[in-house]
Amino acid sequence: MTQTSVQTAHYVPADLPTSIRHFIGGEFVDSVGGETFDVLDPVSNQTYATAAAGQQADIDLAVAAAKDAFDNGPWPRMLPRARARVLHRIADAVEAQDARLAELETFDTGLPVTQALGQAQRAAENFRFFADLIVAQADDTYKVPGKQINYVNRKPVGVAGLITPWNTPFMLESWKLAPALASGCTVVLKPAEFTPLSASLWAEIFRTAGVPDGVFNLVNGIGERAGDALVKHPDVPLISFTGETTTGQTIYRNCAANLKGMSMELGGKSPAVVFADADLDAAIDSTLFGVFSLNGERCTASSRILVERSIYDDFCARYAARAARIVVGDPHDPRTEVGALVHPEHYAKVMGYVEIGKTEGRLLAGGGRPAGLPEWLARGNYVSPTVFADVAPTARIFQEEIFGPVVTITPFETDADALALANGVKYGLAAYIWTTDLSRAHNFAQSVDAGMVWLNSHNVRDLRTPFGGVKASGLGHEGGYRSIDFYTDSQAVHITLAPVHPPRFGGK
Ligand code: NAD
Repeated sequence: MTQTSVQTAHYVPADLPTSIRHFIGGEFVDSVGGETFDVLDPVSNQTYATAAAGQQADIDLAVAAAKDAFDNGPWPRMLPRARARVLHRIADAVEAQDARLAELETFDTGLPVTQALGQAQRAAENFRFFADLIVAQADDTYKVPGKQINYVNRKPVGVAGLITPWNTPFMLESWKLAPALASGCTVVLKPAEFTPLSASLWAEIFRTAGVPDGVFNLVNGIGERAGDALVKHPDVPLISFTGETTTGQTIYRNCAANLKGMSMELGGKSPAVVFADADLDAAIDSTLFGVFSLNGERCTASSRILVERSIYDDFCARYAARAARIVVGDPHDPRTEVGALVHPEHYAKVMGYVEIGKTEGRLLAGGGRPAGLPEWLARGNYVSPTVFADVAPTARIFQEEIFGPVVTITPFETDADALALANGVKYGLAAYIWTTDLSRAHNFAQSVDAGMVWLNSHNVRDLRTPFGGVKASGLGHEGGYRSIDFYTDSQAVHITLAPVHPPRFGGK
């Protein structure tokens, strides 16, 4: 039976805002037309705040403020060191209030508080990383001895439109805000409508750190209204989007009319491949954490485990026993390992897949709401960690992103079978390989369709490495200098060092 934590009442953070507003041109504002939407917390599923619902008019104001700050303000023209100082102050501020950020994020998203705390610290680290990067950055120079020098003049692109999802929202916003601001762009952020709370904290953090008015603008709202208006705005030359693959396809089409720059971080269905020679204890620890941390609402979740036949039964038994002992409960309880899913709509989607799974696989753990939840958690979006074994590659739960605490296990016979299974889905975000055979590990890594591979390792990011997916998991890679490349244009400047010698048209 699923374990539950022992807290006795739902924790509500002090001074919880009851209205969440846009931030445009340095001011908190409501929507021009006064539109709002309700914001729920995922434990009580009650409305705790109303948020301004941005429309075309609000996006127009935010883009105008960002464009004015870009065209006329100091931010794009500051020396990298001066911008870096501001970014470090942002990181300091995030670190100083990490516990507050974590409790608000946990309240709004249902993420376990210990994990939300880690995400807040990671958000600070993203700002530090890009602050350091722009100070260290050099651009290429190409010498043609005695004739020419050609160099790259890097220029911020302009107003960046940033559209983010509801899983780890604050951290994922930082992943776009930090490189965009570091590059000298000004921004309009449209956070996910399920989880607008933590995004509203950026405004005060940025203002106090010295970000000039108009550089950071925030418009809340529904994707199809506020997000769509941002994507289609002619004064926004680039869009960085993280979210579902189908939304990414819509945005891709809508960017085409204005030939915008795009970065797309999309869905995943990542394999964890466990060979018989693996360190099984480590593989079990990692594959449990890989799919059940962050409530399974994780783009790089190892949601398909492929296990070599000779250890399959042992692996399944040990894995299921551990999954059944995962502590599900109030996200604010530090003992909680899996909290409440973000929203009733998402809960219904995940529960739908759990029911489909019962017809497609052998249920080893979970399979519905956790038993024994106390009364005060009874309205929350709880799904117990669910494990299906013997799942065929044609099954929907093998092919489709569930984005919740649900995992499939499938046996394989040979390395070639494992690779075919790993690559047999439309996604290609991450892959995790467990084997002590060095050649096999590298050969597999190099053949698997995945933007990122971890060998005998759980998901630890090195911020310098490329981040992104292949196939339906994304377009373009960010991370390190690649992020700076996205938010800047690399202009080529050519200088002659010798007498010019063009062919003399009309000189005969
Ligand atoms: P979503 O696509 O529903 O929404 C993401 C954002 O897009 C939200 O802000 C939403 O309001 C906005 N949006 C929706 N329709 C829009 C439109 N027509 N035009 C403009 N904006 C629009 O995604 P979600 O449910 O919030 O997030 C979960 C998804 O995100 C999962 O598929 C997950 O794998 C993916 N994700 C990917 C990564 C990655 O790095 N690859 C990271 C985190 C999450």
